[in-house]
Formats: sequence, C-alpha cells, structure tokens
Amino acid sequence: MIGWIHSYMKMPRIDRLLTLYFFHPFKRFIKNWQGLRIPILMYHSISNGDESGVHPYYRVNTSPEVFEQHMEYLYSKGYSVVGLDSLPLLFQEEKNKTLNQSRRYVVITFDDGFRDFYLQAFPVLKKYRFTATVFLVTEAIGIGSEKFKDKEFLKWSEVRALSNEGICFGSHTATHPQLKLLDNERVRKEIKYSTKEIENQLGKSPNSFSYPYKFPENDEVFTSFLEGLLIENHFKFGVSTRLGSTSLKDARYYMKRIPINSDDDINLFKAKIDGGYDWLYMPQYLFKIVRQRLS
Ligand SMILES: [Zn+2]
Repeated sequence: MIGWIHSYMKMPRIDRLLTLYFFHPFKRFIKNWQGLRIPILMYHSISNGDESGVHPYYRVNTSPEVFEQHMEYLYSKGYSVVGLDSLPLLFQEEKNKTLNQSRRYVVITFDDGFRDFYLQAFPVLKKYRFTATVFLVTEAIGIGSEKFKDKEFLKWSEVRALSNEGICFGSHTATHPQLKLLDNERVRKEIKYSTKEIENQLGKSPNSFSYPYKFPENDEVFTSFLEGLLIENHFKFGVSTRLGSTSLKDARYYMKRIPINSDDDINLFKAKIDGGYDWLYMPQYLFKIVRQRLS
C-alpha cells in the first residue's frame, strides 16, 4: 500500500493532470455550496535555483518571472490580498452573512526569510500594493545556514525596512528544526527565542507562526502542547504545510496552505487558488496514517 501511494506521489505530475482536468472544474461547480475558503499561498525562495532533481511538488524556488506572472494574475482578476490578521473578521462576516460575496481573497506567505524576498519579491508586491507575511528563522538572519544550500537570508536592517513598508513578519522558529523530534524544553526555547528576537528587532511581538517541515497532524499530544506554547507566547495565528485552502473550520494555529513554485504556470496557479488542488490533502493524510501505523 505504501509503495503504491509513494509511487503515485512520484508519478510525473499526475497531481497536475487531476487538478486541471477533474478537480478544478468540479470545484468550480460546487463553489457556491462550500462556504468561504481562502487560499494562503506558501512561497519560499524567489530565485532561479536548479531543482531538476526534485519532484515538482517539493520544489521551493519560484523564478522572479513566474512570481511576477502570479502577482499580475491576482491583480488583473481583482483579488484582495489580505494579511493573516484579516481572516477572523472575514470568517465572522461569512458567519453573519454580511460578507461581500463578489470579492475574492488570498493571503501570501513566504517561509524561511531568504534575502531574495527583499531583492525580488518585495518590488513586485509593492508595485501591486500587495501585503505578505514572511516567516523568519531568527538564528539564520544575516548569516545563512548550510541547511538551506547556502542561500542568503534577510538582514535585520532589511527586515526593519520591509516592516516599515507594511510587510508582516512571523516566526519560523530560531533554528528551523523538526520540532516534533525535540524534547519539550527545546521546543519551548525555539519558540521563545525566536519570538523575543523579532520583538527586540522590530519593537513588536510577532503574531503568526509557521511550522517548519512536514506537520505531524496525527500527533495530538504534540500539536496541543505546541498550540499551548504559541498561545503562551501571544501568537494569534499559525500556518503549516497541511495542504489546502483555509476555512472557518481549519485549525487556527496550523492553517492549511497551498505550496507554490516555478512549476505553477498560470493554469495551475489559477486552479490552485480556486481550490482545485485541495483534493490532494486526503491522499497525503491517508499516506501519513498508513505510514504511522506500519512504523
Ligand atoms: Zn522552512
């Protein structure tokens, strides 16, 4: 079974074919019965780095040209690009049936805090007056880390300049570990140190958190421990690598996101923000459960 799911995930872009020709049209058909669903886009690096040896699903680079096309698409289609802190209000409006149904919303996030955000992404975001949230690995700021193939990270002076321009910054831990593998005390330190550092540098506490690596959603003991820590450190929202558009029912500290990279041409990008990629959550979830049971 595992082998089957694994080879299914590795097949050349079967996820793309199913998304474009089955799930996207289907999703558009059922849209009106579904309630508000907002895509939170997950970018990493805006660069041309070579990832030919990596399956398209796992790639993390988006070329500056493709990124510009994505933003141009959102702008031309009239999307409202909102921050994570707008989500509670939008979902409340939906609940009260006062939401403006003609508007479409999207949230843009960047994990890791690479310097190419400042050099490549920000000028494009500024051109379209879009906001975004960048999740920082605080110990890597200004120095970089081997973990990230020697990519350059933002400097604090750049983070401050971007913050003054309306970009939001959240925590992506202090050293980018797989938190689930650490003992509780170290998890506590990762959250606390990164929060304090952002607070010291920006003069305000970060309100959002992004879980590094694959999110262990089946481990309830761990996820509720972490949620308690996030609340203790005054976080209001969190995102994860769980796949899909977020909704009122989603977990506020581990919201789903849509991974984006250079392989997202406009057709696939459009399908993804329309919710046409959300179906992939279920096979991924089942895969995690089967693997957990067999390990
Ligand atoms: Zn990361």
